[in-house]
Amino acid sequence: MSASNDVAAAGAIAIVKKNASPPTDLTLMPVEQLRGAGPRVSERLDRLGIRSVADLLLHLPLRYQDRTRFCAINQLQAGQEVSVHARILTADIHQGRRRALLVALADPERDTGARLWLRFFHFGQPLMRRFEPGAGVSVFGEVRPGPKGLEMIHPELEFLAADETEDQPSAELDHESASTALEAPALALTPVYPTTEGLSQALWRSLIDQSLALLHEQPECLPALLPESLLHPRELPTLTEALRLLHRPSPDTATDELLERRHPAFQRLALEELIAQQLALRVFREQLRESGASPLPGTGQLVAALRALIGFELTQAQARVLDEIAADLAAPRPMLRLLQGDVGSGKTIVAAMAAAQALESNAQVALMAPTELLAEQHLRSFRRWFVPLGFEPLWLAGRHKGAERNAILNALASDAAPLVVGTHALFQDDVHFARLGLVIIDEQHRFGVHQRLRLREKGQRDGRLPHQLIMTATPIPRSLAMTAYADLDLSVIDELPPGRQPVQTIAVPDARRGEVMARLRAACDSGRQAYWVCTLVEESDALQCQAAEDAAAELARELPAQRIGLVHGRMKPAEREPVMSAFAAGELDVLVATTVIEVGVDVPNASLMIIENPERLGLAQLHQLRGRVGRGLIESVCLLLYHPPLTSQAFERLKLLREEHSGFKIADADLRLRGAGEVLGTRQSGHARLRLADPLRDRELVSRARELAALLHRQHPELVPRLIDRWVPQSPDFAS
Ligand code: ADP
Ligand code: MG
Repeated sequence: MSASNDVAAAGAIAIVKKNASPPTDLTLMPVEQLRGAGPRVSERLDRLGIRSVADLLLHLPLRYQDRTRFCAINQLQAGQEVSVHARILTADIHQGRRRALLVALADPERDTGARLWLRFFHFGQPLMRRFEPGAGVSVFGEVRPGPKGLEMIHPELEFLAADETEDQPSAELDHESASTALEAPALALTPVYPTTEGLSQALWRSLIDQSLALLHEQPECLPALLPESLLHPRELPTLTEALRLLHRPSPDTATDELLERRHPAFQRLALEELIAQQLALRVFREQLRESGASPLPGTGQLVAALRALIGFELTQAQARVLDEIAADLAAPRPMLRLLQGDVGSGKTIVAAMAAAQALESNAQVALMAPTELLAEQHLRSFRRWFVPLGFEPLWLAGRHKGAERNAILNALASDAAPLVVGTHALFQDDVHFARLGLVIIDEQHRFGVHQRLRLREKGQRDGRLPHQLIMTATPIPRSLAMTAYADLDLSVIDELPPGRQPVQTIAVPDARRGEVMARLRAACDSGRQAYWVCTLVEESDALQCQAAEDAAAELARELPAQRIGLVHGRMKPAEREPVMSAFAAGELDVLVATTVIEVGVDVPNASLMIIENPERLGLAQLHQLRGRVGRGLIESVCLLLYHPPLTSQAFERLKLLREEHSGFKIADADLRLRGAGEVLGTRQSGHARLRLADPLRDRELVSRARELAALLHRQHPELVPRLIDRWVPQSPDFAS
């Protein structure tokens, strides 16, 4: 620390209000204790989740301004954020649409004729008087085009004495645009904080300065909760050093490392946050596990009968995950397991086997899917497998109303229905289960975590929870799975059923539509079936359905010999169902569909897929779609009928899809292209809400954090609640 910062720190501590007894922990010290944090400011901070001084310290700059970059007025460009040394020419009140103080500035040494205008909407006599024609001033702000030329609105100001002795700047600053950075010129990199209306950067800097001063005075106010022994041999800075560096970087700090958040100081904080998050999830899980569950060891009879009935051998991967699930079900603790497997890896039969074991133990089983289409698909599979075994699956969807619905609800509540398949209608408040033992949820990422927890609660009887199996085809990269789904155990089906061939993927510009048609005709002629997928037009469901209707009509004209079906999102399930069934039964050659077929449709004879305007879709979605073909033994083809010109990103996506067949690698690339929030969906990513860390960028930290959290939990249990408090303030509903 430099001497000047020490002085600044000492000065700042003196201005802290109400410093009665020395604070023990900044995590417990409310922001109101700081100067400038009155009720209105505190309320705004509260809305950002900042309540304590520790919260403030964890509010890191978004970026840094380089105030050492001075620019001559005749070199200025709109959009720049720069410092300017200038001479004051005039200062006048301008009575326009909005009264303003307008100040004209020129280059100080040699007037090039270029002007920079300063515009102030809020000003008083004292400020006006400071703009003495001929005097020097340093300003910092964003340059923008104005009515008279380039201007800055409410820039930060530093007045120089009239004789321009620059080493003797006047210390007085206009209070509205005062900047601590200008007070302390040693700060080459001035932090810019993420903010909200009514909280100025100057205020942020002042609040953080005060917090840093407190920390400087009494480093023990923010205790190091990660034992040194754990962090060794990774030479990361201490918590205090890291915070100081990130808030007030010295001029020689590598800015790109800071901005890209690769700097060890940032990594130190992110690691601690990830550890805290892992701990919070561990605690949450322990609580759940403590509540207990009915063990469902089964008898093996139904499972064996089902195995004999399906007509194929389970893959090794399926058998392995099934063992994991079977062991979980037999335990008196609720299973919380995520079953991850690429499209077509055969998750459904695994779910059915788990259901069979639960049924053997006399428990009720609920299987839930996010869309009716997908739920119907599961219903069909479960009927095929369970009816011969003497179990008729019940069906509950949103369309069930009135008496029909009541009958279903009664069956569930009275134990007459051991097996139910449905949509989120199963979540509703009036649905009660007699003895729900196993909940299976498909395509978890489409449900919010809230819903998942609600279903958990549903089965809760005498403090016991149902076992839970969550299936996802979204191949979430491990680092993300570990944060977003850290409350779940993970089983991965990392093998496809034998005989599957990678889907040959070809990108074709739409000018060659004729060739595509010929190919489609040839495929149909040889007895194959095909999907024709219409993608979303400008986020409009209606337009997408229209596009699908048009495409179906056109195909019917061009391929008069083929039987063409249409399904889209605006059709009622009762209208869609017969079309899907007809396609599955081979009574249709081509199924024109909107992206509703993305999940779950399983027709092994379909070996050709044409996706119109694939450039509109994300990689993961394209991969899911493509997974609808290549499910049988026939070599399958996916034609990406794109509309040129492609953006470079779209080009990258299609190229990747052509070359890559592993859902995991594709998801990884997709994450890089789009970011975690989008891959998981906003609701889901709320689950993994992290202030600083990013599970993708900081993926190495994630696995390290997981290990460290386990160690810490064992060796220093007393630190666990404190770490959670510091980083995960709303821990009770954190995981919900
Ligand atoms: P997903 O994991 O995408 O949900 P499905 O469960 O729909 O995959 O399975 C895809 C297809 O593979 C189905 O037709 C299913 O019957 C079949 N299948 C599943 N497991 C095997 C296996 N071990 N051998 C052969 N076919 C299998
Ligand atoms: Mg599936």
